[in-house]
Amino acid sequence: MIELLAIAAHPDDVEIGCAGTMLLAKRDGKRTGIVDLTRGELSTRGTLESRARETEAATKILGLDYRTNLGMPDGNIELSQENIARLITEIRKTRPTIVLAPSREERHPDHEAAAELAHRACFYAGLEKYSPECGEPHRPLLILNYMQTYAIEPRIIVDVTSVFEDRMRAVEAYSSQFSGSNNSGDQSQRETFLSQEGFFDWLRARASANGLRIGAKYGEAFWGPEPLGTKDLFSLVTKTIA
Ligand SMILES: [Zn+2]
Repeated sequence: MIELLAIAAHPDDVEIGCAGTMLLAKRDGKRTGIVDLTRGELSTRGTLESRARETEAATKILGLDYRTNLGMPDGNIELSQENIARLITEIRKTRPTIVLAPSREERHPDHEAAAELAHRACFYAGLEKYSPECGEPHRPLLILNYMQTYAIEPRIIVDVTSVFEDRMRAVEAYSSQFSGSNNSGDQSQRETFLSQEGFFDWLRARASANGLRIGAKYGEAFWGPEPLGTKDLFSLVTKTIA
C-alpha cells in the first residue's frame, strides 16, 4: 500500500509541484509513490536516457517507495478507456489514501489531460463493476491538485519549510531541463519555460509567497473541490501572527 500517491504527466512535474509534501509524508513514516504517465519524450532538452537517469536520482532524494511510468505518448494523453483502465490498475494496486493530481487548468495541455485522467481513474477505481479485471475496487479518500504553472487560489497550503532544500534538490536532479546545464554539454539548446534564467528563483519565490500566507517560510499550494475535514481545528493553525 502506498498512502500518498502523486500522478504526473511528465517525470519532473511532481518534483516541481509538490516534492516537499511528498518528503514530509515520507518523513512522517508514510509510504509514498509517483505514477508518471509519459516519459516526456517531447521535451526540447535532454534525452530519454538522461531523463530516466534524472528521474532515478530524484526518486532517491524523495525516498519514494514506488514509482512507475505508464509510457503513454507525450503530447497525446488520451482520455481513452484503455488509459483510464491502466491508471485504475495502478490505483487499485497501490491503494492510496490521498492522491496528488496535476492542476486542472494549466499552460501545458498534457497537465490538464493528466488531471482529467486522474480524476476519472480515482472515481471509477472505486466502482466494483468498473473493469473488475483491473483489481479490487479502491477509491482514495482525498484528491488534491498540486499547483503547476498557473497560480491557483489554494484550498490548503502545506508548510514545507523543514524539507525545502531537499525539495529543491529533487527538482535540480533534472539538470538537462534547466538553464546552462544539459548533459550533452551543448549550451545552444533552445530555451524552454523551465530553462529560463530565474526559474529556480521563481519556484522559491512562489513557495515563499504561499508560505507567508500561513506564517511559514515555504509552502506548497493545493486545490480540490471537496470540503476538507479535520478532527482537530487546532491542527489547522500554522500562523505565528494573526
Ligand atoms: Zn510537465
